[in-house]
Amino acid sequence: MTVFPGFTLPDELRVLREQIRRFIREEIVPLEQRLDPDAPGLPEEDYERLAARTKAAGLWALGAPEEHGGGGLDTFSMSVVLEEMAQHRMGLYNVGCGVFGRYPPPAIWAGTKEQIKKYAEPTVREGWRTFFAITEPSGGSDPAGAIQTRAERRGDRWVLNGRKVFISNAHHARWGLVWARTGKDKGRAGISCFIVEPGTPGFTAKNIRTIRTAAIPNDVTLEDVELPADALVGAEGQGLDLAFDLLVKNRFPYSATNLGVAVAAHRMAIAHAKQRSTFGVPLSQRQAIQWMLADAEVEIRACRWLIWEGAWKADRGEDARVEASIAKLYSSEVLGRVVDAAVQIHGGYGVSKEFPLERWYREARVRRIGEGPSEVHRMVIARQLFR
Ligand SMILES: Cc1cc2nc3c(=O)[nH]c(=O)nc-3n(C[C@H](O)[C@H](O)[C@H](O)COP(=O)(O)OP(=O)(O)OC[C@H]3O[C@@H](n4cnc5c(N)ncnc54)[C@H](O)[C@@H]3O)c2cc1C
Repeated sequence: MTVFPGFTLPDELRVLREQIRRFIREEIVPLEQRLDPDAPGLPEEDYERLAARTKAAGLWALGAPEEHGGGGLDTFSMSVVLEEMAQHRMGLYNVGCGVFGRYPPPAIWAGTKEQIKKYAEPTVREGWRTFFAITEPSGGSDPAGAIQTRAERRGDRWVLNGRKVFISNAHHARWGLVWARTGKDKGRAGISCFIVEPGTPGFTAKNIRTIRTAAIPNDVTLEDVELPADALVGAEGQGLDLAFDLLVKNRFPYSATNLGVAVAAHRMAIAHAKQRSTFGVPLSQRQAIQWMLADAEVEIRACRWLIWEGAWKADRGEDARVEASIAKLYSSEVLGRVVDAAVQIHGGYGVSKEFPLERWYREARVRRIGEGPSEVHRMVIARQLFR
């Protein structure tokens, strides 16, 4: 589905959004209410059952290419849809690994037909968990400078040695992508991308406990991990280009999940302010509260337009790298501010595990670090200004 954004969304997209809203209300929220509020994800059995219902409802993997078993929605439509899909307790976990589909790391789409058939397609179809491993102990913001993991060619094999940190889901993924140095070039051109299955001898993953509940990150060690020659994705030395070029488009739907949770928190704050009275007056009549909510409303609307405009440009094939950084930066910061205000307006209930706010508050903090810290996105935007 290709859409042209205007002030009114096309009917088919509005119908889809309404269907997702109903699905969340009827299928996901009641299930989440029965679970431990700190559960890292749905128990496997519930996940399987819910995923089957998502598939039956035609809501599974909407963003994956149609020819590879997905719904074929463009970046703009996915941004609209994911704003809605994120509006539940585990919503921030939804992009790429929730009950609406699990997507492979985008760089795999640059792989060979065989790689796509063996790894990407079953991931889309079956909902396999995957991981991508770029960050190392020496740093994640500047992978071109920091990656030290080496991949050496020995006969018809590649042998990987090194360490990766903060790798989400590596402990229970079916496969993943690992970026390693192959050439002599000390910068970007020396880095390549490999498909690695965690069961391969020499691969170990240990959980790193963080404030985030879902998609647990891991400390991964690669010790003489032997891979077949065809584990290389794309050309030698092309690894980081693949990672970043393909990530750009993904940043809009990713940002939309930030927006979706901000919208949900804001809606809760408005409802609470209407029904809660202090000193004999509803909170909604206090200017201090009204201003918090008014500021949140402005930021949410601005955020939506930044995401939509950038996604629309990306779909038209325009260079949307700066727009992707703007969307990621602004949405993660708006999310933090809006959830913080919602927690404050809820008082003690804001930090109680009875409501999803405290979980969103913790997970929102990570969103300003992962997928490029805010400062790195500001750097990308500023570079463009001074070009
Ligand atoms: C929960 C979680 C899950 C993650 N999942 C994954 C994953 O699945 N795969 C993966 O590869 N990585 C993952 N990461 C790693 C994440 O991408 C990195 O944490 C991030 O890229 C920052 O790298 P770093 O932590 O090494 O910080 P550094 O690169 O050391 O940066 C530290 C801080 O320095 C500042 N900074 C950096 N560069 C600049 C600059 N140019 N100008 C000004 N300030 C700057 C920023 O404030 C930054 O936060 C995850 C991280 C977390 C917390």
